[in-house]
Amino acid sequence: MNPSEQTHPRTEHLDVIIVGAGISGIGAAYHLQQQCPEKTYTILDAQPAIGGTWTTHTYPGIRSDSDFFTFGYRFKAWTGAPIATAAQILKYLREVIDENDIQRHIHHQHTVLSAEWDSGQQRWTLQVLDKQSNRVQSFSCNFLWMCQGYYRHGKGYTPEWPGMANFEGQIVHPQTWPDDLAYKGKRVVVIGSGATAATLVPAIANDCEHVTMLQRSPTYFRTAANANELADTLRQLDIPQEWTHEIVRRKVLFDQSAFTKRAALEPDVVKRELIENVRSHLGENFDVEKHFSPSYRPWQQRLAFIPDADLFRAVAAGKASVVTDDIDCFTAKGIRLKSGVELPADIIVTATGFHLSSPGEIPFTVDGQLVDFHKTITYRGTMFSGVPNMSWMFGYLRASWTLRVDLLSDYICRMLNHMRDHNLGSVTPTLRPSDATMPLKPWVDKDNFSSGYMMRSLHLMPQQIGVQPWKLETDYFVERDLLPTAALDDGILQFTPKIN
Ligand SMILES: Cc1cc2nc3c(=O)[nH]c(=O)nc-3n(C[C@H](O)[C@H](O)[C@H](O)COP(=O)(O)OP(=O)(O)OC[C@H]3O[C@@H](n4cnc5c(N)ncnc54)[C@H](O)[C@@H]3O)c2cc1C
Repeated sequence: MNPSEQTHPRTEHLDVIIVGAGISGIGAAYHLQQQCPEKTYTILDAQPAIGGTWTTHTYPGIRSDSDFFTFGYRFKAWTGAPIATAAQILKYLREVIDENDIQRHIHHQHTVLSAEWDSGQQRWTLQVLDKQSNRVQSFSCNFLWMCQGYYRHGKGYTPEWPGMANFEGQIVHPQTWPDDLAYKGKRVVVIGSGATAATLVPAIANDCEHVTMLQRSPTYFRTAANANELADTLRQLDIPQEWTHEIVRRKVLFDQSAFTKRAALEPDVVKRELIENVRSHLGENFDVEKHFSPSYRPWQQRLAFIPDADLFRAVAAGKASVVTDDIDCFTAKGIRLKSGVELPADIIVTATGFHLSSPGEIPFTVDGQLVDFHKTITYRGTMFSGVPNMSWMFGYLRASWTLRVDLLSDYICRMLNHMRDHNLGSVTPTLRPSDATMPLKPWVDKDNFSSGYMMRSLHLMPQQIGVQPWKLETDYFVERDLLPTAALDDGILQFTPKIN
């Protein structure tokens, strides 16, 4: 049955539609309710459950790689250990939903297929597939709040290698991990060495005959106990948990900022420290230089954190090993490397990343014109030139994503209240003649952040000029001071009076 043939005649109209019920969408809903209580809204999500990333990913060991004091919201205290499992994150999000009566606003299994802006009506109309009834229904709204994350949920990224079809075992991507994958007693090769591989390898190592982490090039890792001394002390002193949350957030941010600055100022020293730390876990006989000494600067890609050094403990115990080499081809029985070595495998896990998803994953039109997001310029890293009444929540790449969701939500709510107070119906970031001649820069600076998923898709992402407000700010401290006071009446945001 072709769902497009079954367009539902009714259009449901809301003041705001939030797309995505992940950590961003739930945060946006909370702030909207708090700061714009008169607004009607709904959340549309393609999945059958809340949580986004934390529902999609079910591979063994799945956990956050940043601390949950800062990955959690500023308004809801985190009471656990810094690194949180997916189950703990979902419980936290569920509490936010229940405490704020958000669930009744969520439409699950509703996939947004397209978004059309009509200036005459000052509204977006969305075509939405209700996966349960297989019907397409229209929703319309005045403001569209895109909280759809940054990668495609349906399928992870797996490169094509010669001979893949010949492999007699199973090939699995962590993003679509089969519930019944029988890895006990099997030889598993995990391709990749990012946060996902580093989580998965120790989580399955004890059950497998052996796990090999196969990487083309090394990654930086930091290790520490999964505990926060300051939080533990404050908790012992019976300090209210909201205070503990705020104090620990500030401390974590302070420490991270100091580390980031050091990584930029003295990259060689920081590199040496990181590598020496790995050596302390693996011993003098392990070839740390070969396997854990990346060619890029620390922090040029996201730095993976290993709680309790579990990856290194699995390697030291002989349950897991690390191979640094290029893949020549897949064979019937495993992987042949460029060095000629063969890695036997029953299961190959391709922890090779994502397909980045720009907001244009679904077609957007403005007054009948298809929006090419790569041709748009971002306004404060959340709106786009020529695209009215729309914001995309894109979090920090180095600091916790949610820090930015809280800040941007305040900003969007302030904008919505400004429009209400001044009887305005639309807001469109519009380049001034002087902006239009400025050189354009990519969504992220390649020298500053070079992760593969980002580099593969920069040509699809919006661009920036690189000076405010035409900039994706990457520093939390800068934006924390900038956004709350950023003028709305700046001559760049073009408002139109409300029709009717
Ligand atoms: C394994 C893993 C670990 C991570 N750990 C961290 C970490 O520790 N710290 C950190 O800061 N970041 C981390 N990230 C990045 C993480 O994805 C973000 O921080 C955050 O979870 C993104 O939340 P989100 O709500 O913006 O998007 P998502 O979690 O991606 O949720 C988006 C939701 O939108 C829905 N959606 C998308 N398109 C449509 C559509 N067309 N119609 C309807 N619904 C749609 C999806 O179904 C999904 O539910 C991690 C990512 C992964 C994959």
